[in-house]
Amino acid sequence: MASKKKSDITEETALRWLKERGVEIQDIADLVYYLQQKYHKNLKIDDCLANVERVLSKREVQNAILTGIQLDMLAEKGMLEEPLQSIIKVDESLYGVDEILAFSIVNVYGSIGFTNYGYIDKQKPGILKRLNDKSTGECHTFLDDIVGAIAAAASSRLAHRVAAEAEEE
Ligand code: MG
Repeated sequence: MASKKKSDITEETALRWLKERGVEIQDIADLVYYLQQKYHKNLKIDDCLANVERVLSKREVQNAILTGIQLDMLAEKGMLEEPLQSIIKVDESLYGVDEILAFSIVNVYGSIGFTNYGYIDKQKPGILKRLNDKSTGECHTFLDDIVGAIAAAASSRLAHRVAAEAEEE
């Protein structure tokens, strides 16, 4: 049997880590639905799901997932060096690198993604509320931004597609 390609391992690991950290693809699709339902009256959850899957198939998105979750996991285990350990563990508001990393995901589908990201980051619906619950002892400093960014990017992709279809009619 041929050995697995590195690109396959990257994709599989990113998807597995999301799941292991408590995020289902369906949870992210729900966020897309939350963001887009008011703009598209016949929006189906399956359309949201399909767009999330396309975002997750991008290598730069997988790289951001792996990097962010790795830092969250190490912080949770207390394995980072100070001062970074405390900064990430307590999710210090002025740190900001979690958001910068998430922007690399939002960027993939253009600038309307930033508006969606800002909105969902303020509202914190669904899975984002749980990821922000500091009482669990889990550390999701990076993951909450990454999940919001994937939802924002998938929303942008969906909006671009709907606009392109309308033009064809
Ligand atoms: Mg964060």
